[in-house]
Amino acid sequence: MAYRLAGGCHCGNIRADVVLSRPPSDFVPRACDCDFCCKHGAAYVSDPEGELTLRLREPGAVRRYAQGSGTADMLLCGRCGVMVAGLLCEGGRNFAAINVRIIDGESPFGASRSASPKLLPVEDKVDRWKRLWFADVRIVEDGA
Ligand SMILES: [Zn+2]
Repeated sequence: MAYRLAGGCHCGNIRADVVLSRPPSDFVPRACDCDFCCKHGAAYVSDPEGELTLRLREPGAVRRYAQGSGTADMLLCGRCGVMVAGLLCEGGRNFAAINVRIIDGESPFGASRSASPKLLPVEDKVDRWKRLWFADVRIVEDGA
């Protein structure tokens, strides 16, 4: 059974198609307590059994920001400033967690819980992300 959600940044430059393997209400968004995520009010959801497609209308107007230990990139729209996802590229593979704030309409997820990945050593962080994040991630450049 697949559960489909759609979302994106504010201006439409980045769209996200999300496929979850379980009902969205089963997911507990992880409200990361690092300085960057707090400033965005971000909380993350990911499903290692799900799929994520990110469509970039104008790839040149998409920003990547490496924060914290610099192991993952935060994907932001350079036009409207919305932070869409965390991305990790490892061995030619993309892993990602989406910011739940980008989902269109009311949040279908459960209540957020605080998470402190900043306390983990880099190695553990990467292992954790590879276990928890979307592992089936496509980034599609739609072109202008
Ligand atoms: Zn935008």
